[in-house]
Amino acid sequence: MIDTHCHLDVKQFNKDRDDVIERARQQLRYVINPATDFGSNIRVQQIQKQHRGFVFACMALDPVNFVKQQDRQNEFIELARQHSNDIVAIGEVGLDYYWLPDKKGVQQSNFIAMIELANELKKTLVIHSRNAMEDALEILERHANTRVVMHCFSGNKTQMKRCWDSNYITSFATSICRMGKVLSKSLDLDKIVVETDSPYLNPVSTERNEPVNVKYAIQKIAEKTGTTFEEIEAITDKNAMRAFNL
Ligand SMILES: [Zn+2]
Repeated sequence: MIDTHCHLDVKQFNKDRDDVIERARQQLRYVINPATDFGSNIRVQQIQKQHRGFVFACMALDPVNFVKQQDRQNEFIELARQHSNDIVAIGEVGLDYYWLPDKKGVQQSNFIAMIELANELKKTLVIHSRNAMEDALEILERHANTRVVMHCFSGNKTQMKRCWDSNYITSFATSICRMGKVLSKSLDLDKIVVETDSPYLNPVSTERNEPVNVKYAIQKIAEKTGTTFEEIEAITDKNAMRAFNL
């Protein structure tokens, strides 16, 4: 199993981060840690160094922090260029119209800058899109020249098909165990991966989530598509390794 999206660097893991990673190591093949704000980019580098070959890092300013930390954009871009060999993706980047409904224009230009950075560094893009799927897809289709993973996919069936037609990977989070309607019976199994988005999106409660729980997303997809756990595990591993060049 591969958890393609978890935030091991956040404070919710400060007390027992190594235990959480050790538990993950017992059951998972790899975990991928995207960055969110400027400090997160530094922390994910430290974590991937300590757990080299198991935890893989992505770098980014997410759509909300990109607006909040506007003055650090250039510094961030330089940092990402310096660490190009230490990261598997630029992410999470995108559009968040839920938290910043009044800042659509600036988010769109920030998003384009992040896509151009991923194109330049030849890195996969990990996309965060909240209440903004149409705009996100339009911008990606126009600018992205690299692999794309749609983190915590929450669009409709037409948008899902549109992602697959563009060869984008849709990532399903453990929250599908509580909100299964984003899943369809006929998934393009070559274009899906799974994630926990830990510490968020716990499969059953509002408690802290952690990477080992990624198995519940696999189980849910297996049930929905009438396949086996082992089959979905194998195919999502393969897809994740291809998507992130692991
Ligand atoms: Zn995330």
